[in-house]
Amino acid sequence: MSVIGLAAAISGLMFVAFVNMDVGYTVPSNSSPQVPSAPPPHPAAAPTDIRRVNVLDKVSYDFPAYMLPNMDLSKNPCENFYEFSCAGYEARTVLPDWTPSWAYTWDNVGNKTNMELLRLLQTSNEDAGQWFRACMNVPTSRDFVLVEAHLTAIQSVGSMTELFKAIGQVNRIGTSAFFDWSVSGDEQNPTRRIFSFAEGGISLPDKDFYSQADRSAVNMLLSVITDIMHLAGYSEADAQIIAGDAVAVETHLAAFMWSNTQSRVAKPERYSFAELQSVTPGFEWITVFDTIVAAMMQVNNKIVLHNPLTSGQLFEVDNLHGFYAGMNKIMTADQLPRLKHYMLWRIMKDFSTHLDVRYEKALHRLALVLSGSTTLEPRWMKCKSSVTAALPTAMSKMYMKHFISDATRTSASQMIADIRMEFNAALGREPWMDAKTRSLAQQKLSKALIALGGPPLDSPTPSSESFPITSSYTYNYILASEAEVYSSLKRLGEEVHRLDWNGNTATDINSYYNRAVNVLFIPAGILQPPFFDPQAPLAVNLGAAGVIFGHEFTHGFDDIGSQYNIDCKRQSWWPHSVEEEFTRRSSCVAQHYSSYMVAGVHVKGNLTLAEDLADTGGLRLAWSALTRANGGPVDKKTSQLFFESFAQVWCSKTGEKAQRLGVRTDQHAPSRVRVNAGLSNMPEFAEAFSCPVGSPMNPVDKCSVW
Ligand SMILES: [Zn+2]
Repeated sequence: MSVIGLAAAISGLMFVAFVNMDVGYTVPSNSSPQVPSAPPPHPAAAPTDIRRVNVLDKVSYDFPAYMLPNMDLSKNPCENFYEFSCAGYEARTVLPDWTPSWAYTWDNVGNKTNMELLRLLQTSNEDAGQWFRACMNVPTSRDFVLVEAHLTAIQSVGSMTELFKAIGQVNRIGTSAFFDWSVSGDEQNPTRRIFSFAEGGISLPDKDFYSQADRSAVNMLLSVITDIMHLAGYSEADAQIIAGDAVAVETHLAAFMWSNTQSRVAKPERYSFAELQSVTPGFEWITVFDTIVAAMMQVNNKIVLHNPLTSGQLFEVDNLHGFYAGMNKIMTADQLPRLKHYMLWRIMKDFSTHLDVRYEKALHRLALVLSGSTTLEPRWMKCKSSVTAALPTAMSKMYMKHFISDATRTSASQMIADIRMEFNAALGREPWMDAKTRSLAQQKLSKALIALGGPPLDSPTPSSESFPITSSYTYNYILASEAEVYSSLKRLGEEVHRLDWNGNTATDINSYYNRAVNVLFIPAGILQPPFFDPQAPLAVNLGAAGVIFGHEFTHGFDDIGSQYNIDCKRQSWWPHSVEEEFTRRSSCVAQHYSSYMVAGVHVKGNLTLAEDLADTGGLRLAWSALTRANGGPVDKKTSQLFFESFAQVWCSKTGEKAQRLGVRTDQHAPSRVRVNAGLSNMPEFAEAFSCPVGSPMNPVDKCSVW
């Protein structure tokens, strides 16, 4: 569970970036490997440069100078604190066409970090530098040969058994067709790993996009597939047939999927292979996985692997009797031509971001209808992201060698320890829990580990990052995908390492909590101003980084995290009465968040509940750390600074389409709701800004969980 989510859930583009235009940053050209030379934006003044501002000669505030341009002091903080804190930022920020959203803290810090990584990558002789430079050499039509072999193999399929072999072949390079699989921690035996099947094989963000009255996304998907298959050498007429068939298969699969609110709370069920096969008699699972395993063992003389389905172990299957049973209905010989066309598209979809730019541009048209992004991000940013995804450990180490100081580590560790202490104290007095449950909760909290910065510099290179780097970016993508699949299969028999960063990196401007192992991952990337600055006033640091640390701790006790006991086993450990009270209190939060509207759409409080609980918990914990550090009640100016620092973390400018996409698909509430809903449940906020009872930011009825 991360602190920020995906605004543009397409093509792997994550919350891609831009910056406010008033700082002189020039958007680099997308057509050449040119990189920006202007310095990244940064707080314009030292965090200790506090300025007094008067509002209508009645109220005065003391805020750091760098915060003031983001604010609109003509807004009433008791009506809409987000507007008070961020309307200035939204007004002065101009989004370029290649991103639908830019967030003041997250993206400015991300931009600064990207620039630093860019300088390292350009001169690095290590694998990461080689990957980056191969990527900057835009693939040419010659690289198409690498995918053409797969297309030809799929076209030559003449029977269902051959189709299942083809599914195995595309799976070995990471392409999802019909379903997804992974190897992850076993919720019933947390030190071991288990093989898991999930729903998969569709191109739009979730099932609703295939069934809604608004057909714009499905129509664009049809158009995109037609274009890409035409680029791949099929006639216009054939490309249209392929597109129609591919979308028909995806629509069929989507019809049997869970909604995103259902899948968020679903508990995986475990089955034997015989049970899976009996529900899906038309699917030759053994053929698929024999093919994957045989292909993996051929690659670079890897050690012997076994078909995970014939081990006799149980494995997890999401929605077996819905999705998998539904998928089985089209696994018949008379559907073979249609199934082959679907497979052709699935592989082209994955390769389109790794071939020459015509494919990438064609695929990106989907983003136009989903998020409103009209052009590709600059190539250097795409290449930075791709090397980070392929070589996360190498990138982490490269960054940490230069960009995290001992002083930052020490002061961040102290703040994390302070927040944990506040949570421990809060759990100890939680009035709606009995004494035994309070004690167990405190034990669980005490067992949480902190992974700070990134993977240790002396950690070995994981097998998922052990592959040769060539001069062909397309080929490197294939090698990386194979290494990832091999690494997953190999891990099946291995013990879980709690501190494994699992692909997250030191360079992430984010933070995470992994429920399966009860560990907080705090990347070096987020330990930068204005999130965290050893020079800044404590109220500023606690309002930003402190709330984020508290957010991650609270995830251990959100509506899903609380289902994991002190040994990380997912099983009930609360008495019924405590569970009931928790459900009642968290329902209040879900209803409260659902009452907000963004871009004409209601927030889905049942989709965002875990994140909302983490936000409200994080605020309370950071606030009590401030109170304790102050040795008693906090004066008005300090408390105003704390809440303002929190709000400005979420200043952002987002286009309407991206806002609607976020509300529909993101498990995090929109930025303005995170500020306004979170703070309106805090009496301390109302007191700090003298908000009358019954004003929007100080409702009579408040929700409270942690
Ligand atoms: Zn979170």
